[in-house]
Amino acid sequence: MEKTEGEVLKERLFNTKKSGWNGMSEEENRQVFQFANDYMYYLNQAKTEKEIVQFSKEILLKNDFKELKDVESLNPGDKVFWVNRNRSLYIAVIGQEKLENGLKMVGAQGDSPRIDLKQNPLYEENEVALLKTHYYGGIKKYQWATVPLALHGIVAKTNGERIWISIGEEETDPVFYITDLPPHLSRGGQDARKLSEGIEAEELNIVAGTMPYEDEKVSEKVKLNILRLLNEKYGIKEVDFTSSELEFVPAYKARSIGFDESLIGAYGQDDKICCYTSLRSILEVNNPTKTAICILTDREEIGFCGVTGMESRSFERFIIELLEKRGENTPGMIEKVYSNSQAISADVDAGFDPTFSSYYDTRNSCRLGHGVCICKYTGARGKSGASEAPAEFVAEIRRIFDENKVAYCSSELGKVDKGGGGTIAVTFANRGIDTIDIGVPVLSMHAPYELTSKFDVYDAYRAYRAFLQQ
Ligand code: MN
Repeated sequence: MEKTEGEVLKERLFNTKKSGWNGMSEEENRQVFQFANDYMYYLNQAKTEKEIVQFSKEILLKNDFKELKDVESLNPGDKVFWVNRNRSLYIAVIGQEKLENGLKMVGAQGDSPRIDLKQNPLYEENEVALLKTHYYGGIKKYQWATVPLALHGIVAKTNGERIWISIGEEETDPVFYITDLPPHLSRGGQDARKLSEGIEAEELNIVAGTMPYEDEKVSEKVKLNILRLLNEKYGIKEVDFTSSELEFVPAYKARSIGFDESLIGAYGQDDKICCYTSLRSILEVNNPTKTAICILTDREEIGFCGVTGMESRSFERFIIELLEKRGENTPGMIEKVYSNSQAISADVDAGFDPTFSSYYDTRNSCRLGHGVCICKYTGARGKSGASEAPAEFVAEIRRIFDENKVAYCSSELGKVDKGGGGTIAVTFANRGIDTIDIGVPVLSMHAPYELTSKFDVYDAYRAYRAFLQQ
């Protein structure tokens, strides 16, 4: 049947977005699922910012990237990286044009919300050894009780030794646990608390053990027994917790979700989903016009601060070294580079959740399976704190995506008075770099187990690759 004039006109003028699964070829379907398997493997290998840097570095070395310090001078096509204190990673593929003409950057973050140990964590109460914690990032605290937790991190000793600890990822490993009251006891008391106070921060205590050290003469026998075990296995004493970074993360593995297996459930997809997709994309960037940069930063979840966060001038150290090794480092050059540069802040967005539809503006929300979401501005309540991308830059992004058949939608984080949030976009914009947020929709963001679409993972990889290769 021939289309009516109105139908043709509507097709031409309306901004109608379809699910990426519609009309997908068998070959593309195979690629989407293969990519998702690779991504889930990456998630299972790297659950913390340090493991993201470590594992990503291994991938870079296998793909002919070199450490920047080992390279005397840089030429177009060269592939290098710099690791900042084992916690953030900056990668470059040198372009044909001078750095002065600007860089193309994609920045994601390897840290995710989690439960950190306090520096004086171990105590014993009623013959149970417990660990005090301080949560990291914005979490709904009640979600983290009664969940199997794995322990990842490092203990730095005064002799310079650094001990890596990972307990709870192997099938035969023990895991850790935060308790909650049974419903039989919480009626009238805990049940009447507000949801945000269901479990309070000082109730996020980790159960560490119950077996006593056999000696009638000593007190705190269970605590002593735990310290004995830690000392035998890792050579540490209680005081060594002072200089430790020990993080509890869900012990779950990444899994396919749903009868059709179209979704992914995993811990830390915010923002390891953008780490993996941007890393994979820069692996495939060859001889770009402008120098392509991929950043896996740290400390996004607590405000981009600290020496490994995106606000730190550690980033300048990397760019200046690139300039030096290209023979372009003249006074004021870095500002010139920035003013000609463009960046994607690669971070997730809150995907539309039909169960909680009243929290979203349905016309301005990203949907699972509809590709990457372009977020022109973040911020909250009146765009407060937003770096907002200029319309001209958004148009250029649209052109790149259209030319490369990248699916995208435009979104913001929930209803105006209800939602909002911030990303590292502002740290690029403050440096004079045109910046936009482009990421992947996630359901149950910041929960111990987050939900994404396999189509969107693949689409993000294609989006970042198209942008960097330009
Ligand atoms: Mn986040």
